[in-house]
Amino acid sequence: MTEGPLVLFVEDELSIRRFVRATITGQGFRFLEATTGQEGLMLIASHKPDVVLLDLGLPDMDGLDLTRKLREWTQVPIIVVSARGKEEEKVKALDAGADDYLTKPFGVGELMARMRVALRHSRQAAQPSGEPVFETGRLRVDMEKRRVFVGDEEVHLTPIEYRLLTVLIQHAGKVVTHSQLLREVWDKSSNEHSNYLRIYVHQLRQKLEKDPVRPEYIITEAGVGYRLHTDE
Ligand code: CA
Repeated sequence: MTEGPLVLFVEDELSIRRFVRATITGQGFRFLEATTGQEGLMLIASHKPDVVLLDLGLPDMDGLDLTRKLREWTQVPIIVVSARGKEEEKVKALDAGADDYLTKPFGVGELMARMRVALRHSRQAAQPSGEPVFETGRLRVDMEKRRVFVGDEEVHLTPIEYRLLTVLIQHAGKVVTHSQLLREVWDKSSNEHSNYLRIYVHQLRQKLEKDPVRPEYIITEAGVGYRLHTDE
């Protein structure tokens, strides 16, 4: 039997650590935990976990600072764990190099989905798959031929709409912040241009979604960014 991926959870709250430990070990993952940022740093260096779950409110250091420190030397997937209503904190963590976030309180399904996406992305980064076709639900994007289909019907996108969609596909399943999208699609770093983003997301939804008001593919992460749905 092969050993499951190693997860490190850096969190000072015992009840949440217990919940996550019980969930994760039941799913075939190996589990390590740290209660402070310092301990977390040490364990990451010594045990090289496959994914790090990181609480942003730690007793000895800010999870944001820990994320920045880690990004100086490791690309390990980092999923930050933060309280509801702290959207600004989540955005900062994502812009500092975190891969995704979970909002407390979170359920088992959400936790496992985030972990699977993070692990899949880190495997792909290590070994580019060169998969030219992306599919989710009825949406199919052939990136080699630059063609987009919903069911059997081909959808025609403008160059910017297509670019926005492919950036979301590169990060499929993960949240992408507003500023990251502005940077990658328009090469603009300033949030002054965030209305571009709203307009183009709206257009894309009109073309791709069955009900653009209740999107299935391009999901809004309020105050943070957008997430492209994946089937997993
Ligand atoms: Ca905490």
